[in-house]
Amino acid sequence: MQKFDNFINGQWVAGASYAPNINPSNLADVIGDYTQADAAQLDAAVNAAQAAFPAWATGNVQARADALDKIGTEILARREELGTLLAREEGKTKPEGIGEATRAGNIFKFFAGECLRLAGEVLPSVRSGVGVEITREPMGVIGLITPWNFPIAIPAWKVAPALAYGNCVVLKPADLVPGCAWALAEIISRSGIPAGVFNLVMGRGSVIGDPLVNHPGINAISFTGSQGVGGRIAQQCAVNLKKVQLEMGGKNPQIILDDADVAQAVELSVQSAFFSSGQRCTASSRLIVTDGIYAKFVEGVKARMATLKIGDALAAGIDIGPVSSRAQLEIDMGYVDIGKAEGASLVAGGERLQLATEGFYMAPALLTDTTADMRINREEVFGPVASIIRVKGYEEALFEANNTPFGLSAGIATTSLKYATHFKRHSQAGMVMVNLPTAGVDYHVPFGGRKGSSFGSREQGRYAQEFFTTVKTAYTLA
Ligand code: NAP
Repeated sequence: MQKFDNFINGQWVAGASYAPNINPSNLADVIGDYTQADAAQLDAAVNAAQAAFPAWATGNVQARADALDKIGTEILARREELGTLLAREEGKTKPEGIGEATRAGNIFKFFAGECLRLAGEVLPSVRSGVGVEITREPMGVIGLITPWNFPIAIPAWKVAPALAYGNCVVLKPADLVPGCAWALAEIISRSGIPAGVFNLVMGRGSVIGDPLVNHPGINAISFTGSQGVGGRIAQQCAVNLKKVQLEMGGKNPQIILDDADVAQAVELSVQSAFFSSGQRCTASSRLIVTDGIYAKFVEGVKARMATLKIGDALAAGIDIGPVSSRAQLEIDMGYVDIGKAEGASLVAGGERLQLATEGFYMAPALLTDTTADMRINREEVFGPVASIIRVKGYEEALFEANNTPFGLSAGIATTSLKYATHFKRHSQAGMVMVNLPTAGVDYHVPFGGRKGSSFGSREQGRYAQEFFTTVKTAYTLA
């Protein structure tokens, strides 16, 4: 079995132990043995990043742009291979995996350009003869902690802006899916970026999470993952006065109004609730449907669900792969039971599937007769489980859409300009979709939410500057 090591200070180094990376479509398929760091190795990575920072922060921006562009070019050239690896380790379908790898490549190319566009401001002073300049400078050494559900795109959308704006990084990917992060590190290792600027430290959050977040050499933490871990990290950063950015869960609503195009509403709801096994923070898990379209919509969703092909993520023609792990499968099946116990009706799916290979397969589940106060409508499941909330009209739909501790993405299916416009204004989500699935976003514009979904400034696009730089105001007497 091939062994994969950490990348620290420009060297590949073995950690304290190794753990197998297992294909959730076929548990007999082991992708490789990936090393697990301990706190001492994490310390070495932070020290290397600190040592590399002064030269990288003040170095030539054309060289920086060239390196990021080279990384993006290689990812795009190898998108099929990387997408296949992604499907094999995480369970997204191969086309979805290729799409995610393409996104990662495009992100590096976008931030290659941003290296040359970090603008400041020059203002007149209120004092005669004095000039004022406002510039942005890198934060320093940044700890990047990523989840398992986007194993290459999320590392890319944190690493690329961090490096573009002159920071050094220590990336800790999710323990469940280290393969794509390792492949990204291998590409970065040949890009011309100096030793220590980028470091990959694989291992468990329970072992190296605290040492990373609390390390005095770390200036800021960018985290994507669950609300529980994110909240803990925010507390640690507050105590240590570190800048922190958290992207966390969602319980995203999809409103379907009476005047919606039924076929379109069904398709976008099924896509955003169940594709990628519902394992997207932007997946819609609450379908809020008005009375007049309710029966047609529910029948349409059930009919579309009956056509979904669930199977090995690498097989041709399938719509949905397995869920990512045994633990996630148990959570998903558990929430179906919780929903039923709360009084919901399971009208489609919800059972474990036995296919040709042993994997974590589950039939997407649709629950009706649910109310907003049920756990199934308040807690993030993070699996192929959606519930329907029936409402009388738009006002009630809007209220229920916002009636959640989360606020990441929200959608409305309607042909009414009036309701679409009102919803864009009054939705309490960071991202709003009109006649589009709640999942599926562009890579060059801000990404993030409100309430319990996000904390700190936005990721992606130019808005990433806010987190990855700090502002300096300089006064000069002419
Ligand atoms: P998670 O359990 O919170 O883990 C996220 C990352 O944090 C992993 O790398 C994990 O390491 C690490 N970690 C665990 N304990 C830690 C600690 N004490 N200190 C520091 N790091 C620690 O989340 P997940 O299950 O991987 O991902 C699913 C969640 O991510 C869902 O809630 C989903 O909504 C959210 N998500 C949000 C977005 C967004 O942009 N809003 C995007 C994607 C996913 P281990 O792997 O070793 O546990």
